[in-house]
Amino acid sequence: MKTIGILGGMSWESTLEYYRLINEEVKSRLGGFHSAKILLYSFDFAEIESLQHQGRWEEMGVLLSEAAQRLEKAGADFILIATNTMHKVAPAVEEAISIPLLHIVDATAAAIKEANCHRVGLLGTKFTMEEEFYRRRLKEKHQIEVVVPPVEQRDLVHQVIFNELVMGEIKEKSRLNFIRIINDLKSAGAQGIILGCTEIPLLIKPEHSSLPLFDTTAIHARSAVDWALD
Ligand code: GLU
Repeated sequence: MKTIGILGGMSWESTLEYYRLINEEVKSRLGGFHSAKILLYSFDFAEIESLQHQGRWEEMGVLLSEAAQRLEKAGADFILIATNTMHKVAPAVEEAISIPLLHIVDATAAAIKEANCHRVGLLGTKFTMEEEFYRRRLKEKHQIEVVVPPVEQRDLVHQVIFNELVMGEIKEKSRLNFIRIINDLKSAGAQGIILGCTEIPLLIKPEHSSLPLFDTTAIHARSAVDWALD
């Protein structure tokens, strides 16, 4: 079994899910006493969040690259960045290490294609919904069309992520707002919804959605197990 290196803590609420999902998947595939071999570098999210909202991505690229190098030195066979947003600096991380990076967009795109979808709605932080790094990879590398909510709904989703979900707060009012946004994306032609923030699956479950959900946390965790056991 390979050792999975995780850049986590962004936030720890979702890293906890990665840890649980990866171990459950290894246990269900191998049985007995088996569990995953994991090295975790967990950031102080206050530092990352502050840099994100100041737009200091180059510095974050350096921080994540150094952490990934430490995981590589410690024996990780490949790296996961356990957040969608921080994939904005994935190219810098890939450059800094000589082990592979399991990109969250590639894992998610494979699940979308398996479900025969080619046009999907995207919910995530404003960085993920609005900037090129995520949507362009889906479109250019995987030929998947992305629909995002209008600006006031993007603001709402971003606020819920940063003011509630990364703080471990799950509110029914926000769930109802997300359900309304998902229905609007369906009307705009989405065939499925990417939960493109690793904390959104804490709020939105399949039973809350009129469309198939692509839960990036679960998909990324499952792909990591595929790689680890390959
Ligand atoms: N975990 C989140 C994501 O998947 C948001 C937190 C962050 O900004 O890294 O995008």
